[in-house]
Amino acid sequence: MKKINFYAGPAILAQEVIEEASKSALSFGDMGLSILEISHRSKEFVSVLEEAEALVRELLNVSDEYGVLFLSGGASSQFYMTAMNLLNEGDKAGYLDTGAWSSKAIKEAKLFGEIEVVASSKDKNYNYIPTGYDIPSDYKYLHLTSNNTIFGTEIFNWPETDVPFVADMSSDIFSRPLDISKFSIIYAGAQKNLGPSGVTLVIVKKDILNKVEKALPTMLKYQTHIDKDSSFNTPPVYPIYVSMLTLRWIKKNGGVAAMEKKNIEKSDLLYNEIDRNSLFEGTAAKEDRSRMNVCFLLKDEALEAEFLKDCAAAGCVGVKGHRSVGGFRASIYNAMPKAGVQTLVDVMKKFEEKNT
Ligand SMILES: *Cc1c(COP(=O)(O)O)cnc(C)c1O
Repeated sequence: MKKINFYAGPAILAQEVIEEASKSALSFGDMGLSILEISHRSKEFVSVLEEAEALVRELLNVSDEYGVLFLSGGASSQFYMTAMNLLNEGDKAGYLDTGAWSSKAIKEAKLFGEIEVVASSKDKNYNYIPTGYDIPSDYKYLHLTSNNTIFGTEIFNWPETDVPFVADMSSDIFSRPLDISKFSIIYAGAQKNLGPSGVTLVIVKKDILNKVEKALPTMLKYQTHIDKDSSFNTPPVYPIYVSMLTLRWIKKNGGVAAMEKKNIEKSDLLYNEIDRNSLFEGTAAKEDRSRMNVCFLLKDEALEAEFLKDCAAAGCVGVKGHRSVGGFRASIYNAMPKAGVQTLVDVMKKFEEKNT
């Protein structure tokens, strides 16, 4: 039986996407070849890439002022690529430190400009999203991690400022509508909410580019990939294809507004049980609780192993928490059906009956 996949990433994909992808791995369209062995210059793949880009534009309402790129190197490469492409030596950028991924972004950006951490929630093991900090208007951008995959917090109120945002949306892109005009760059590793690992989606405003004086390696310039439609070198063909199938699936299921509605229902279902159940408690500040990664603890740590055993017996995998938070983390991305969350909630209810 197929398990219920609560892993943080690589993560659950829609079952019909996996089925279609597996068919194409054997034989793609009428090419008489597997998609794994076709040229990235074939008209069939070019049309996959074009459809993927068009779906990103349609689903998130992305205008022609922005390039939509499918790159390799993971979100981690974007930590330096963003700063490298936007900052001259001495230029300032602000970073909001909301977790391990933000900290990594800060470390890399410091190689390229004057990086100021506008606020940090490190004092409370990143269990909240800071507010009320200053954003000087001379910042080239403010970097935000919209969803903190490890700590289970998410930004719901974007800071009020004219400084454009650069955002790591690896774990919540396509989970809700966005006002793209506030962003200079959005990047997201595909393997949380979009597709398999191996491709990173980057949405970049074109008029912010080509302002750095330093010579950049060709592969690390966004402009290169804009000019060559993400095919300057061989792009990750299969991950892009599977991401395109996921984008089709999102569209078919009502787009990002419908995803948001479902994500609110699913996360409410789980958080309500965490709050109701006498054995469990949530770790994140209530107003900042992520709809994608739900972190929670057993008040009695000694019961952890037994709870994980019960989860496994019910087919729930990937529930063990990240070592920096402990306890449990249920990642409930777009593709997680409500019935999957209900199964976990039922395990929690039975666990309470058994242990009180
Ligand atoms: C997983 C994750 C990353 C790292 O992504 P890679 O593709 O492995 O480099 C970065 N940021 C966030 C928010 C993530 O969830």
